[in-house]
Amino acid sequence: MDMLREKTREVRIGDVLIGGGHSVAIQSMTNTKTEDVEATVAQILRLEAAGCEIIRCAVPAMDAAYALKEIKRQIHIPLVADIHFDYRLAIAAIENGADKIRINPGNIGSRERLQAVVEKAKEYLVPIRVGVNSGSLEKPLLEKYGGVTAEGIVESALDKVRMIEEMGYDNLVVSIKSSDVMMCVKAHELIASRCPYPLHVGITEAGTVYAGNVKSSVGLGIILHEGIGNTIRVSLTGDPLEEIKTAKLILKTLGLRRGGIEVVSCPTCGRTQIDLIGLANQVENMVADIPLDIKVAVMGCVVNGPGEAKEADIGIAGGIGEGLLIRKGEIVKKVKEEELLETLRQELLNWKR
Ligand code: SF4
Repeated sequence: MDMLREKTREVRIGDVLIGGGHSVAIQSMTNTKTEDVEATVAQILRLEAAGCEIIRCAVPAMDAAYALKEIKRQIHIPLVADIHFDYRLAIAAIENGADKIRINPGNIGSRERLQAVVEKAKEYLVPIRVGVNSGSLEKPLLEKYGGVTAEGIVESALDKVRMIEEMGYDNLVVSIKSSDVMMCVKAHELIASRCPYPLHVGITEAGTVYAGNVKSSVGLGIILHEGIGNTIRVSLTGDPLEEIKTAKLILKTLGLRRGGIEVVSCPTCGRTQIDLIGLANQVENMVADIPLDIKVAVMGCVVNGPGEAKEADIGIAGGIGEGLLIRKGEIVKKVKEEELLETLRQELLNWKR
């Protein structure tokens, strides 16, 4: 593979640089009505606080394109406009401050219309994401490859890229999506060696929070681990805040991000003496805002807990009526069960960095 993420071109989206040696950026998409500025801004600010680095809004009509200007004024991360079918919306989105537009050149209209969008992007130095989904594959490619295939998706995307290149523009990002996870993986492997542009990676229509998390983790996990992908989005049918949490965890698990407390907890067994599921969730919520880069273990019994928590920097193990505070597998002190959470919190707040 000769087009790994660090070898792709650098592209600027507002204040965020992607591609080249830049870290993989986390994206999400709002699910409010874009023209409802108040609701959209409120959602974006929540997503920003959770770690979203680039946000995309659907622009299905002119009032949504006009709303971008005010939305952008109130947020702090780059704003991407998602446009289908109507080239005038893409032009209006750029004029109203979009930091990037996402289009499928295949459905934006004639060559002249695409050219008009490209000229506007040139004028404002706005990158274009060429997005192709397995669901929108052109008939000739479906016939050529006998249905939807990774090869067909890649050929479709590269055709579109070439069209824009021929119009004299190469400020591009590419995305190819499929809800078939392994087809998506294959398509990324194919395109990575044939395309110099940063790739935005996501598993489309991944499903509800549970199914979507699993599919995205497997798909994005493989693709990112192969060194492919410059920005990611976890697509979930649910609160976009969940997308950010999952994206961050995927990047951290792969060693592509650092920072934040990692909570590990035992799977529970017949020796479990406390409500460990409740406790682990409480700990996870409690540590979300503590800016440490350490591992915290939450264990279900005082007998094996300390030993099993050896690899964590700090841990707690719950027993009946009492619990233990553990550091690197060593028992530091015994506290009352009801004081366990607060004891851990104090330890973390006093943690020497
Ligand atoms: S730490 Fe204790 S409760 Fe948890 S799995 Fe191990 S033995 Fe069971």
